[in-house]
Amino acid sequence: MADDSLELDALFTLNYGLYILSSCMGERFNGQVSNTVMQVTDTPPKLAAAVSKVALTHEFISESGVFAVTVLAESAPVELIGLFGFKSGRDVDKFSQLAHETGSTGCPIVLDHALACIEARVEQTLDCGTHTLFIGDVVHARLLGQGRPMTYSYYREVLGGKTPPTAPTYQPRPVAAAGGKETSGMASYVCEVCGYVYDPEKGDPDNDIAPGTAFEELPDDWVCPVCGAGKDQFAEQ
Ligand code: FE
Repeated sequence: MADDSLELDALFTLNYGLYILSSCMGERFNGQVSNTVMQVTDTPPKLAAAVSKVALTHEFISESGVFAVTVLAESAPVELIGLFGFKSGRDVDKFSQLAHETGSTGCPIVLDHALACIEARVEQTLDCGTHTLFIGDVVHARLLGQGRPMTYSYYREVLGGKTPPTAPTYQPRPVAAAGGKETSGMASYVCEVCGYVYDPEKGDPDNDIAPGTAFEELPDDWVCPVCGAGKDQFAEQ
């Protein structure tokens, strides 16, 4: 239980990778972003992954007993991470929207911006309360590309990515930049689905929105670059 003696920001100094964790159930595929995948033994190689019990991927892994980890490159765009991090497989067929293949375990493997895939068969599970830790023997692993692997800090600090509410790790509340709202006279808007902040000074250049574009001037069909939510899901900060 949290109390005043716990300086929870200490937990945010921990480092993580950023992966697509996927599984299957029958013919269905699903996957999610995960920063809590790690190798736990070398001989034989085993992986551990912590997954929220409310996630569809949790249901799939529990049912199939297999999971796959796609290691993303730093080149992976926030839209790709947003698709897997802020949308539920109960609402969207995520793998219908991008290049993928089926691994030897039957799990889907992301091919775009992928450095490697590692497939595992679950050998143990540990009930951690809100999350389950799945521990699996690595049954297949291969390299898919070259580049620098995405890290959680790169995603947050360089790409400006947000953290899904079901992530198992501590998330400090975002701190607004001092004077940020006043310098341009234009308000920032926050996505109420994923926490992405539209900063009119920066615009959204990846989607042809020039710096200096007020939120009110965005086209009606503009959507959150992280989670795909429409403008009506944004609130003034
Ligand atoms: Fe969003």
